[in-house]
Amino acid sequence: MTNNIYFIANWKMYGSTSSLNSLNKVINLSKLKKYKKAKIIYFPPFTLIHNFINKFKNSKISIGGQNCHVVEDYGSFTGSISSKMLKELGCKYVIIGHSENRIAGETDLDINKKIHSAINKNLKIVFCIGETLNEKRKQITFSVLKRQINKGLKNIKNYKNILIAYEPVWSIGTGVIPNGKELELNIFKIKKIISKKTKKKLPILYGGSVNNKNVKSLKNITGIKGFLIGSASQNSKKFIDIIKKTIN
Ligand code: PEP
Repeated sequence: MTNNIYFIANWKMYGSTSSLNSLNKVINLSKLKKYKKAKIIYFPPFTLIHNFINKFKNSKISIGGQNCHVVEDYGSFTGSISSKMLKELGCKYVIIGHSENRIAGETDLDINKKIHSAINKNLKIVFCIGETLNEKRKQITFSVLKRQINKGLKNIKNYKNILIAYEPVWSIGTGVIPNGKELELNIFKIKKIISKKTKKKLPILYGGSVNNKNVKSLKNITGIKGFLIGSASQNSKKFIDIIKKTIN
């Protein structure tokens, strides 16, 4: 891997103010010349975004929201957060299309509206795609990825703030990762679909059970520009280990 290597820490619905001290180790690592290429971005739960922004204010580490509403400004949507609100808090990024939200009912159309809202508010987007185990078994992975990409990016004109996270749903939180050949082929197909749709090369990250043991093989997969890390990112020691094993 060359240039920027993304390490996306998705804390999901975990973490409390007592988790903040463990982040000092990550700040220290991010300041070392050796890890200059590491683009570390934390996605805490909404309740901790403000704390994380303060914590990382003198570092290169960025913060993002784990989701946003389809409406980009303020509105009467109880329990929701808009792109405008994330931006006002100091977020630079937002995750859109995470499978845990797709499973909860988020549609390709919702995702497309959310991507438009984030672009309008000048947020960078981690756009998640990936097939379920059932879709993989039915051998429809490529048509699923094509549909997710084409519908999610419908009428988008500006791709400069979009990163793609390929996350096979069957790999998230299961400890199971795709074999190298399968992953390489899927990344290759995603690149083809993206370049046909956007005429651009967007960074593609891998997510799904990345840990400090499997990262050594994952980092050799052609075309991957970094990782979206869920559970292992909530432990700073393990997260640092992943970064160190990727950049050595
Ligand atoms: C995720 O949250 O998108 C994820 C990949 O989680 P995990 O690393 O725990 O599988």
